[in-house]
Amino acid sequence: MALLSSLIIVLCSSLSPKVHSVCDISQQFSFYMDGRFHRQYLKMDARDVRNWGSLSELDLSNVNLLVLTGGDSRIPYSSLAIEKIDAFMHSGGTVLVMADGIKGDVPVSDLLDGHDIALTDQPVESPLAGRVDLSGSEIVFRGGSSLKPGELWQPLIVDAGGRAVLAERAVGNGTLLVGSRGLFGHKPDASDPINDEWVGPLLLSRAVKKAVDPERPHRRTWAEDSRMAGPLKLEFHDGTEQFADGILEVYEEVRPHLLAITGVEPSPGMIQRMLILPTGGGGFSSGVCIAIGAWWGGFPEKRYPMVELISHEAGHSWVLPHPEPLWNEPIATWLGIEVGRRLGMPAAQQTLDRQIRKARKLDPELKKLNPMDARAARDLVWGKSYHVFEELERLHGPGAMARYFKAKRQYISPDRPGYTMDDCVAVWSLALDQDLFPWFQGLAFDVDRSRTELQAP
Ligand SMILES: [Zn+2]
Repeated sequence: MALLSSLIIVLCSSLSPKVHSVCDISQQFSFYMDGRFHRQYLKMDARDVRNWGSLSELDLSNVNLLVLTGGDSRIPYSSLAIEKIDAFMHSGGTVLVMADGIKGDVPVSDLLDGHDIALTDQPVESPLAGRVDLSGSEIVFRGGSSLKPGELWQPLIVDAGGRAVLAERAVGNGTLLVGSRGLFGHKPDASDPINDEWVGPLLLSRAVKKAVDPERPHRRTWAEDSRMAGPLKLEFHDGTEQFADGILEVYEEVRPHLLAITGVEPSPGMIQRMLILPTGGGGFSSGVCIAIGAWWGGFPEKRYPMVELISHEAGHSWVLPHPEPLWNEPIATWLGIEVGRRLGMPAAQQTLDRQIRKARKLDPELKKLNPMDARAARDLVWGKSYHVFEELERLHGPGAMARYFKAKRQYISPDRPGYTMDDCVAVWSLALDQDLFPWFQGLAFDVDRSRTELQAP
């Protein structure tokens, strides 16, 4: 019964939470801010959505908590965004800014300037101590710099030298909380919930000052701008628009090469949208939508990393609905390397050679270690995968990879329940009209033709 009633309480609080939060990923995208912050600190107590569009366009009418990070210098805060955030606080909303000034000014400083607080480059000195609500709380800090708040501010955490590390002030009916970035988690898998005893409760206690209507869920805000480039819908917001043309240009350069290398079009229904993502930290793909980090690898000054990234993310749309077993990621990057080589970029071959060299350090002949072993090192899996593609191309090419993609489309129906490494080697065998099981076994792959119904030659 006790269990049942606590279950009911949990259910009720999750069904109608008093806090509607928005984590912003428009000024700078990270997988951490894309849901992990919420999972670490707000859990069942707040319903969270992410903002992917311009902050100035965000509907905050039924929101009471907005979470911001320092941002990236390539995307300044617009004055309209700052006005929007200020109006939100005046109406009772709570804003948490997690930022660090140790490497100099960050875009969110433009918001903080208007509220008499600055990020500094002064390192925090331990031990840290909580004040007011947080007095007696244990404070964990990952490192970083302190804050310089004006007189209207209440420090909630101070360091050994009395410098503020977390502070708050009232803004109209609402609250602005600013904390040094090192007080909070940052890992993309949410495995570092430091300070979770107090972060969530502190935010919730401030946010509930503005009532939200739990019957009216707030919605995710997507990048609001788009334009069609042939069949592709290019998506961006005011801050990422500056990158859109350059990235589209690379995509249009890359696509014919992907068609030539694979010999087939992307799988039906795939790559309909391309999102320009405000980060230098890579991208992701859902097959239908690929998201590309706008300044990945030093783009636009450096071009090869972007060629590789776009080819990689687009490449996922060629293998679906059956991702490659074992080498789903390596094959995507190999497609990028192959595109780079066709475009005459020396960095492509260097990338390939470097990875195979790393694998040979672990398995000099590449014939001993089974890359399908759950304990296999990443470098072995990647290097051996590249080696396989290169060798198949050398022994059976040119165009071995295209023959594989064509055979996969021919023999593997979209509704097939799965696609194993045994199936994959059978498809390679069908493509190249030769029993390749012994060859793969010679490279220590645990594959067996009796475990697939596909009739390899
Ligand atoms: Zn990938």
